[in-house]
Formats: sequence, C-alpha cells, structure tokens
Amino acid sequence: MLMCKEATRLMSLKQDRPLTFQERIALRLHLSMCQACRECDRQFTLLHNSARRFAPEPPPEEDDPHRGKGDRGGNGTR
Ligand SMILES: [Zn+2]
Repeated sequence: MLMCKEATRLMSLKQDRPLTFQERIALRLHLSMCQACRECDRQFTLLHNSARRFAPEPPPEEDDPHRGKGDRGGNGTR
C-alpha cells in the first residue's frame, strides 16, 4: 500500500506528466482510503489550475493598425 508521502509525490508528478497506469491505480487506491490525501489532491488540482490562470499570457501578435507599417525598421532591412 502506498505511503502518503509517495501518494503526494504522484500528485505533484501528475501535474507535470500523465501518470503511468500503475501509478494511477496506486494513487487512486490510496486516495480511496486516505481522506487526507484526497484533500491534498484537491488542493493540488486547485493550485495547479489557478497557477495556470494567473500565468502571464504571451504578448499578443502585433496587429495594431496604427503602428504596423512604415515606422519600423527605418532603413528597410528585414
Ligand atoms: Zn495518504
């Protein structure tokens, strides 16, 4: 049976890469028996989701019509 420590490791691992079948089963089994880890897993997911939400978005493509053409580069080299 999985230790809580191991289960926690799998939970954080799960955020980085999909777990293998075995890992998934082991974690699931543990979660079904361990309320503390179930709560922990929930927190992990919440945290992960919000981290993703607050991550800086990539800057939008420059398609502003006011500064698109002409006033960039100067000497025409591209
Ligand atoms: Zn546990």
